[in-house]
Amino acid sequence: MPQAALPDLNTAWIMDKREFLNALKLKNYGVVFWSLSSINAAMPEDYRVEISDQKYNDELKKDLLVKCSHCDIELKHKDIVVREVLKHHVVATMTGTDKEKVWECSNCHKYNNLSKTPMIQIKPKEPYFLKVVPNPPSRKGSLLDRIEYHKRAEAWAYRFYTEISHQMSKLRTEYKPKGEDQEELTHIDGGEGLDF
Ligand SMILES: [Zn+2]
Repeated sequence: MPQAALPDLNTAWIMDKREFLNALKLKNYGVVFWSLSSINAAMPEDYRVEISDQKYNDELKKDLLVKCSHCDIELKHKDIVVREVLKHHVVATMTGTDKEKVWECSNCHKYNNLSKTPMIQIKPKEPYFLKVVPNPPSRKGSLLDRIEYHKRAEAWAYRFYTEISHQMSKLRTEYKPKGEDQEELTHIDGGEGLDF
């Protein structure tokens, strides 16, 4: 990235952060979304946080376990191979669909029906950073929905904010402006007690 870009980004971040926190207090989620998206868009491409339900769920699935109903072993969801097979004629007639998803257990080599497989989600330890957030929650009509919406929108906004903050601190660490190498070295030396 160009050398001048980081201080500009820092200034923008401070401003957008203020805007974000203020909008969050006022529950103005349009501005919340805008301020976060604006700083995210200003980041160098490699540091941007993606917004995608699909990718977010895929990331979480990395820590999803499936349990074999024959031998009770727990395997990682990402390690199983899911296959689509034709159902038995009678079952197909009863359920109205002729295909089903199955996976073979690598331990006992028996087949499991995916839709009946117990799944265990291992929650990643906080703080965790996935570099992707789900799509922002959508707003619905009723009063109950609105209360629910505030909670979900706030949780989503903090998730997005935390991800961006993490990328921002990564960027600061990885960015080494010319002429400041010496200063950084001195700092590290002081911290680690490495004297030559
Ligand atoms: Zn098994």
